[in-house]
Amino acid sequence: MNEEYFSHLTSEEKKILIDKGTETPFSGKYNNFFDAGIFICRACKAPLYESNTKFNSGCGWPSFDDEISGSIKRYDDFRGGRIRTEICCAKCDGHLGHVFVGEKITLNDTRHCVNSLSIQFKSYNNLDRVTFGAGSFWKVENIFKNKSGIYMTSVGFMGGEIENPTYDEVSRGDTNHIEVVDIFFDSSVITFDELLKIFWFNHDPTSLNRQGDDEGSQYSSVIFYYTKKQKDYSKKAIILEEKKRKNKIITKLESAKIFYRAEEYHQNYLVKNNLGNYSP
Ligand SMILES: [Zn+2]
Repeated sequence: MNEEYFSHLTSEEKKILIDKGTETPFSGKYNNFFDAGIFICRACKAPLYESNTKFNSGCGWPSFDDEISGSIKRYDDFRGGRIRTEICCAKCDGHLGHVFVGEKITLNDTRHCVNSLSIQFKSYNNLDRVTFGAGSFWKVENIFKNKSGIYMTSVGFMGGEIENPTYDEVSRGDTNHIEVVDIFFDSSVITFDELLKIFWFNHDPTSLNRQGDDEGSQYSSVIFYYTKKQKDYSKKAIILEEKKRKNKIITKLESAKIFYRAEEYHQNYLVKNNLGNYSP
């Protein structure tokens, strides 16, 4: 261990990174945190995890299903009368947590269970964000997820009245939340206009509260914008689309509200359940 990497840490951080401690579950600042960026080692600042590998395992600690190549060292850990695999930062050897496989939560089937106190988040300021509602969020996420220039997608709820809604609550239709896909994208690779084209093409923006067999206000067509530029582009695009379709576009255009990430089993749902070839 190179001590200079650890000298700036607080005593709480040292307890985790040097003495291999564990923070109290659900207490860490990154447990329920899903912004786009990179997580670096709190001690030596080496990049460890991309935020698009982060998921909510429900365990109470930040969970990632993959590491940045070469960033993590694994050790057998026999403490506590069981065999676990300890994970440490490859550069400074600071303790991060443990890694588990075979829980079948994400496609990678791996959970890096990491202490919030071992890591530090750096936001990707070059990414833009937009949130779309266009019917069942399973389908909408699947349409956008693997397009080049899209860094990260998450499904969830926006625009309703209650905090932290569950899927069941939204499905009852009385919370006024809309099923949405939250998208972080690199506009030098895929422009907002191109995203709008995909949005229009893949749902019916003329049918109120209905997409195919899915009926209810949670399936509203909506663009939640984050900038004035997105708002202006969307207004123009709606006019163009009305001309093209010779029909009224009922898509709502609203400023983004709080995004509530849906339960983990809804994330990447179609691919996880071998239904991923859906592509209208
Ligand atoms: Zn480190």
